[in-house]
Amino acid sequence: MLFANYHTHTPRCNHARGEEREYIEAAIQAGYQLLGFSDHSPYVFENGHDSGFRMKLEETENYVSTLQALRREYEKDITLLIGFEAEYYPRLFAKTLAFLHPFDYDFLLLGQHFTVNETDGVSVNLPMTDGDLHQFVDQTCQAMHTGAFTYFNHPDMPLHTGSPAAYEREMTRLCQTALETDTPLELNLLGIRGKRNYPHEPFWEIVQQIGNPVIIGVDAHDPRNLDHREALDEALKLVEKYRLRLIDRVPIKDPHTCALAKELNLC
Ligand SMILES: [Zn+2]
Ligand SMILES: [Zn+2]
Repeated sequence: MLFANYHTHTPRCNHARGEEREYIEAAIQAGYQLLGFSDHSPYVFENGHDSGFRMKLEETENYVSTLQALRREYEKDITLLIGFEAEYYPRLFAKTLAFLHPFDYDFLLLGQHFTVNETDGVSVNLPMTDGDLHQFVDQTCQAMHTGAFTYFNHPDMPLHTGSPAAYEREMTRLCQTALETDTPLELNLLGIRGKRNYPHEPFWEIVQQIGNPVIIGVDAHDPRNLDHREALDEALKLVEKYRLRLIDRVPIKDPHTCALAKELNLC
């Protein structure tokens, strides 16, 4: 059983089902002591672009206040944290961090679903070249250096179709930066439940060599995902196979006071 899950969605992202309360009660039922919500973050785009898979800017207030009320209601049963899963889009992230700054939230997770950004880059779920992977790693390394991100979601999500040597070189760079910046890596249960291209074993072989701390994330898009026995067993097999340094909770990095927030004079 897991002590904590930091990766939980809500229907605001348009591809998850179940009310916050249902996720919380499923988590208590399954024995978690800490539940972190990290729905797909609102994002400040330059051109009115609508992602379709994240909450809208104007939904942020309701997301945070709903969870604050539930946190008080359930405080005797479970610790609730309020967060967001966000991409690092170089041109847009500073504006997004500034947008989120007034809200009383706890953490950000790095969930990089595109290179560059949604309008100018490529999806990491579609076949990626060596060049695309290089861009992905450059960008996520920059993200980790902002100090804003508590951990890195499904770092092995990129569907890379280039050379294995390039994969090893790029992902070694990613894992080294994660270690240097104290950014744990997530072993993602949605990849297992959905029989996706991740967890990608060559990635975890590199993690074994670098020795990164690893946290399991449920990536719940349905309250039932929190009772995850089969997927968890699969994940634990990988932990054992690659002798991963599994941690059951992560130190929270407060995005309000991170290096980038200081640079932007937000705090
Ligand atoms: Zn999602
Ligand atoms: Zn997610």
